[in-house]
Amino acid sequence: MRVIRAEFMGLCFGVRDALSVAEQIAAPEQVSVFGELVHNPIVQRQLTDRGFHVVDEESRDQDALQSRVMITAHGISEKRRSQLSAKAKELIDTTCPLVRRVHEAAMQFRDEGRFVVLIGRRNHVEVQGITEDLERWVVIQEPDDALHWAETRLGVLCQSTTTPEHARACLDAILQRNPNSDVRYVDTICRPTRQRQMALEAMCSQADICVVVGGKRSNNTRQLTDRCRSLGCVAYQVEDVSELDREWFRGFACVGLTAGTSTPDITIEEVATWLSAL
Ligand code: SF4
Repeated sequence: MRVIRAEFMGLCFGVRDALSVAEQIAAPEQVSVFGELVHNPIVQRQLTDRGFHVVDEESRDQDALQSRVMITAHGISEKRRSQLSAKAKELIDTTCPLVRRVHEAAMQFRDEGRFVVLIGRRNHVEVQGITEDLERWVVIQEPDDALHWAETRLGVLCQSTTTPEHARACLDAILQRNPNSDVRYVDTICRPTRQRQMALEAMCSQADICVVVGGKRSNNTRQLTDRCRSLGCVAYQVEDVSELDREWFRGFACVGLTAGTSTPDITIEEVATWLSAL
């Protein structure tokens, strides 16, 4: 089987930096990771095996925390940051600078008195971190979620891993339903997400079937899979090599390979080797 690799895939710099900070921590048992460092079960297992106390994303408020708390690349709100500092926790901050940029854009909108419309996934921790510091806001997941809001000034921005097509479709719907409002849009999609999406399009023009490697809870991995399918490719999403099935590839000569920004290099290489051997 011929394997075409996407020009850009796998770990982004934000995740690499967070993992490298974790690797350098000498006493992991004294550290609580405040949620999933990345949305990848293999990385999660490695962290717990090393002794890190990984706090469940859904119960971050209830869990007892160690003296040192690691903030993940997805970031947290200023509100939560203050709560942790008030409990005398030492923060190890691995918030991605491109997530910070989304927070800054949201704060700017707030200061301008705008109603903030965030395009993203409602339950995602990045989205929670951004909205927790706002008073007037809404999250829209799909273009159909856009309503006519009784607001004269709107500020629209996106979760960092939103695809450009999806952001455009949501923005169009917002503009259409709020024709008399002053709408300001700031594109907060991160560069690695944009690069991976563009590389995927080039790859799909050559391959009829694609494998996307990444965690089931990873937003950007799911977006890559969806985009493959919308481009007319047969697409399978797997967390690692053990989930692959030879039957999927019967009748195909060329397979495209890509991976989400939280997928470790070794997991991608194992999948690539398996596919090449078909
Ligand atoms: S996906 Fe983008 S925003 Fe998220 S950690 Fe990677 S570079 Fe940062």
